[in-house]
Amino acid sequence: MSSGPEKDWQQASCYLNGEWCALRDAKVSVLDRGFIFGDGVYEVISVDQFQDDRGSYRAPFQIREHFVRLQRSLDAVRIANPLTIEQWFDLTAEVIDRNPWQRQLVYVQVTRGIAKRDHPFPSGVSPTVFVSTSPWPLISNEQIEEGVAAVTHADERWLHCDIKSTSLLGNVLMKQYAIDQGASETVMVRDGFLTEGSSTNISVVKNGVVSMPPKTVQILPGITVDGIARITQAHGVATEVRPVAAEELRTADEIWLSSSGREVLAIVSLDGAPVGSGKPGPMYRSMHQWFQQGKQADAELWAMLRGRSSACAPEARTR
Ligand code: PMP
Repeated sequence: MSSGPEKDWQQASCYLNGEWCALRDAKVSVLDRGFIFGDGVYEVISVDQFQDDRGSYRAPFQIREHFVRLQRSLDAVRIANPLTIEQWFDLTAEVIDRNPWQRQLVYVQVTRGIAKRDHPFPSGVSPTVFVSTSPWPLISNEQIEEGVAAVTHADERWLHCDIKSTSLLGNVLMKQYAIDQGASETVMVRDGFLTEGSSTNISVVKNGVVSMPPKTVQILPGITVDGIARITQAHGVATEVRPVAAEELRTADEIWLSSSGREVLAIVSLDGAPVGSGKPGPMYRSMHQWFQQGKQADAELWAMLRGRSSACAPEARTR
């Protein structure tokens, strides 16, 4: 297997119900309730490459937080967690190890399993467990330096947005709405207040204060936005978790989007109007730097807890 981004992502080695195979060969039954009902939950975990005095290694970011949230989602939809958190860590380390990319997005999905199509929970069914990964392209300097455009839309989704469910049609339609408008994210508003982006959390900066909506059923409790809150607080930046009125989006100095895959990006135009100066603001620039430092610290912790085994050292991967 050649290493590097040239490797066809469909050849990625993935895990399905206890077996490893190429992603293109992984098959589930059409009766899987994930397929029939979107009856499942998922996580996306970013993996980056880091350096220490012994060379380079790869580490997942905020892995514990992701599997704590997976447990929360499973509890919410009443699927028994098929693995312990340590087993999830091992599986994540293995999928990273089995694949060559320095930067990866690990995808984890658990569905209720395979049963005759009928709405009630089936009995005696094992959950379907799927773990795959794909190359995670560098977030472009242009996006970091110039920011991205967003549009607003009414939040028309259901009221369990706190569950990281694979039933994402509402989010898919909102993302496509952004693309159709030539923007890269849709910022949603419900009853006059900011909820979140189609696949991101949204924070607003005004007069040096960073504000983010509270964790309710209306938004996903994002791992990245939690990281942002911890970072701002650690650096003495005033941070408020409170309902953010839609009008505040119009007068914000800065707006940020955040997710595991996009980290933190500045939204510099909203519905065609500039946000603040129309460029990523000074708070964003600090946040971006602090965020990278936070990633480094988290990776060091992973390397310390797991040891610097071949599990995450790309140069040691020969399979
Ligand atoms: N909100 C939604 C709707 C999302 O899909 C995501 C990405 N999974 C996020 C927020 C950001 O979550 P995280 O920072 O945990 O990736």
